[in-house]
Amino acid sequence: MLEAAIKQQLDQYLQLMEGDVVLRVSAGEDKVSNEMLELVRELASMSSRISVERATLERTPSFSVNRPSEETGIVFAGIPLGHEFTSLVLALLQVSGRAPKVDADTIKQIQNIEGTYHFESYISLSCHNCPDVVQALNVMSVLNPNITHTMIDGAAFKDEVEAKEIMAVPTVFLNGESFGNGRMSLEEILAKLGTGPDASAFSDKDPYDVLVVGGGPAGASAAVYAARKGIRTGIIAERFGGQVMDTMGIENFIGTAYTEGPKLVASLEEHVKEYGIDVMNLQRAKRLEKNDLVEIELENGAVLKSKSVILSTGARWRNVNVPGEAEFKNKGVAYCPHCDGPLFEGKRVAVIGGGNSGIEAAIDLAGIVKHVTVLEFAPELKADQVLQDRLHSLPNVTVITNAQTTEITGTDKVNGISYVSRETNESHHVELEGVFVQIGLVPNTDWLDSVERNNFGEIVVDRHGATNVPGVFAAGDCTNSAYKQIIISMGSGATAALGAFDYMIRN
Ligand SMILES: Cc1cc2nc3c(=O)[nH]c(=O)nc-3n(C[C@H](O)[C@H](O)[C@H](O)COP(=O)(O)OP(=O)(O)OC[C@H]3O[C@@H](n4cnc5c(N)ncnc54)[C@H](O)[C@@H]3O)c2cc1C
Repeated sequence: MLEAAIKQQLDQYLQLMEGDVVLRVSAGEDKVSNEMLELVRELASMSSRISVERATLERTPSFSVNRPSEETGIVFAGIPLGHEFTSLVLALLQVSGRAPKVDADTIKQIQNIEGTYHFESYISLSCHNCPDVVQALNVMSVLNPNITHTMIDGAAFKDEVEAKEIMAVPTVFLNGESFGNGRMSLEEILAKLGTGPDASAFSDKDPYDVLVVGGGPAGASAAVYAARKGIRTGIIAERFGGQVMDTMGIENFIGTAYTEGPKLVASLEEHVKEYGIDVMNLQRAKRLEKNDLVEIELENGAVLKSKSVILSTGARWRNVNVPGEAEFKNKGVAYCPHCDGPLFEGKRVAVIGGGNSGIEAAIDLAGIVKHVTVLEFAPELKADQVLQDRLHSLPNVTVITNAQTTEITGTDKVNGISYVSRETNESHHVELEGVFVQIGLVPNTDWLDSVERNNFGEIVVDRHGATNVPGVFAAGDCTNSAYKQIIISMGSGATAALGAFDYMIRN
């Protein structure tokens, strides 16, 4: 079942197992059950530490990963191949006794969680956001006997997905109640459980020389450049990694022909940690005030002070702001075609937006869904010609230009989209099951008031990255830079850090 190259790699990992693992398999006569049996038997044939037992679990086909004398609560329902294969390998290693790569404080935080927590995560095997969630919940199950986790492949349990009206992955349930959607790190899950630090945890922090707000490529680069000057540097990030965490393939990070978002974020994190930068992840800034020092207030009420601040808060998906969008979010309204496309297999969807991201999404989706309708507001598509040519070669795509979306309709989930033709003023309604919104990004700057912004909400900076407020600099997608790219954000982060250093020398 496993390809030779994967088997060879897997063989090396299995040699790292530290104890015995029992896979308890609940299988029937169906095709997926047979494939699952083939997979677990193949794993057992590769390591004497792995044994297989037949069992009856809550779902069939599924299997649990246990120690010989103890159930861990980790269950894979469906076959964890594709993006989830790493989750399976990590579960085998961690259940065997190999310590997860998590810092000591987080381990303690997980072990101290009291009460009973049963998580269920619905995923698709092509979703690049799902493994983080699956792996985080598995780590929690390994470390705390009160926590259990079942990963459920939506494609293998379609009836369950339909019944629960799941239209975006990953979707996580906790004790049967909706817990969250989308990529979540271990720290984010713990924060959602209410185990995060409060304001008192920040009260003894001395003022920084440079405090960076935002942990994307711009913020990481600014922090490394600042710390390399030997000055006290901190980063506040709502989610370290920023948009790069949502990016699958990256082919234009010069010097690296191909990488993937989470991989790049892991190396940014490693680089930042090398300089002893104080990283305050999962913290959101809500106010900036310039007194003697620049003050940043966090959502939890803590106030941090710094001689200079670099704003690198990036951008988020732009909403189309029509009735039905918010109401049906994750009930047919989606923003990530790579993640959620497979849930619309054989269905009809619309893509709003005819720029590069919209047309890339439409091409991707056309290979999975029954039909794609592209709605573009302008008289023509704005995507690169090569993408438009590819789109027009596809048999199951309709492009409608001059279309102003007026409503996303539905009852308990999306059932259609309404638009007005800007040419004829006529209203139209298309029946469909999903809508992917791809109309660009909006800068995360609405929490700022004294810092000058342009009509698009972008922070206005000079060639040193300086804003209108002395000591406050900005970099990356939240600024008025002409282009928004990883490498450009990193460059502007470096500029802002050098600008801030210059400012401090002069003041
Ligand atoms: C799907 C997708 C694919 C892409 N593909 C590519 C590609 O292939 N190549 C390429 O070069 N570019 C690509 N981009 C663009 C690229 O990701 C961005 O240009 C880049 O990430 C911008 O970096 P940034 O640091 O300015 O902002 P972001 O990456 O947006 O990071 C912003 C940071 O600020 C934090 N933040 C926001 N508000 C607050 C607050 N109030 N308090 C604290 N923290 C806050 C966020 O949590 C995050 O850590 C892609 C973007 C997307 C969405």
